[in-house]
Amino acid sequence: MVEATERDGMTWYQCENCGLLFDDESDARQHEENCAGDEPDYLQ
Ligand SMILES: [Zn+2]
Repeated sequence: MVEATERDGMTWYQCENCGLLFDDESDARQHEENCAGDEPDYLQ
C-alpha cells in the first residue's frame, strides 16, 4: 500500500514493498501494482 510521507516540505508517496519514493501518488500506485516486493532491481 502506498504511504504518504513528508520530506523536504513536500509530500512523497512511498511504496511499502520496496521503499521507493514518488512525488506523484498515481505514479506510486502504478508502480506498486507492478511491484511484488521481490524485484531486487528496485532495491538500493
Ligand atoms: Zn515498490
